[in-house]
Amino acid sequence: MPASARRTGTVLVTGAAGFIGYHAARRLLAEGLAVVALDALTPYYDVALKRARFERLRAFPNATLVEADLADAAATERVFARYRPHRVVHLAAQPGVRRALTEPHPYISANVTGFLNVLEGCRHHGVAHLVYASSSSVYGANRQLPFSEHAGADHPVSLYAATKRANELMAHSYAHLFGVPATGLRFFTVYGPWGRPDMAVYTFTDAIANGRPITVADGGRVLRDFTYIDDVVESLVRILDLPPRPDPDWASRAPDPATAAAPYRIYNIGGDAPHALNDLIALIEDALGRRAERRDGERPPGDVPETRADTADLARAVGFVPAVPLAEGVRRFVDWYRAYHRLPADAPEAVLVG
Ligand code: NAD
Repeated sequence: MPASARRTGTVLVTGAAGFIGYHAARRLLAEGLAVVALDALTPYYDVALKRARFERLRAFPNATLVEADLADAAATERVFARYRPHRVVHLAAQPGVRRALTEPHPYISANVTGFLNVLEGCRHHGVAHLVYASSSSVYGANRQLPFSEHAGADHPVSLYAATKRANELMAHSYAHLFGVPATGLRFFTVYGPWGRPDMAVYTFTDAIANGRPITVADGGRVLRDFTYIDDVVESLVRILDLPPRPDPDWASRAPDPATAAAPYRIYNIGGDAPHALNDLIALIEDALGRRAERRDGERPPGDVPETRADTADLARAVGFVPAVPLAEGVRRFVDWYRAYHRLPADAPEAVLVG
């Protein structure tokens, strides 16, 4: 596919009212592409935040906003038939490792049934490239660091991770059977402006800003490869532009995730280096100008002690790896947090009491 052809055609972005989907849709819209931004606006976290993101997309004349549930096969087929997307960025999902401990069903309906419906849409409507969200959690019980796409990912330790690994396997089978070109992105703890209120960067900032105690697992020694949102979007857009690798012999080749000739690939999308939660907390404290009140907690089942991405394949494929340092990213997040919650930058104490 010539580069010019890759820059045209409608892109369907699912989960576009979500954190990563919103940023991805904005970037593609800013580049002038026609974007169908789809979301079910599920109540997993603050729907007002999702609506605010969605409404900001409406400002682009090349955006079409669609509220639909991908777990509904007929509704998903209607979206594909009506908008005939040339490429699909599938980011809609029920995220989070912890919620699945008590409410498992949305993980299957959104992440497995929803993913199947997207694959069917891609298959029947000749989508040129499906790029979908996987997760670093697929590495599960694998303790070989850094996590490489070439190492095993078949021992998930949470239902969420199992659904993400299932997506990769489903995508592989559709690539093999029907030639659907599919690339899975294993995201590593993404953070930044308009971020998710259930994730550590947001919850710690929110608690410290409002004088509430934070609960810190394992003495804050848990290590995460935090990845800044702009780096994620840059990686995603470059990967979306990759040609689908047409090759008549792909079906007979070994299905190695990174090198298979089948139109099927997987890349880690990880940050500059792992940081301990203690480092993150200190950076948030500095940015807010307030100290945290800490309580000791335990690492919940399903949370791993460390994540670290091997990004060699990503670098080779698109000549880019995430690089925004955590200190810079946290400053940008806290600036956004203050603006969104209308907190003055220079006098946080004055408005945070009570
Ligand atoms: P998010 O929850 O902010 O966004 C997901 C969006 O999907 C939400 O707006 C939700 O309303 C929508 N959605 C859920 N079920 C749906 C359905 N059945 N039909 C249509 N829309 C539905 O999450 P995010 O952080 O933006 O994550 C985006 C993707 O990346 C997800 O697949 C997630 O599992 C994956 N991921 C995220 C991270 C991270 O650190 N943020 C890490 C690894 C993987």
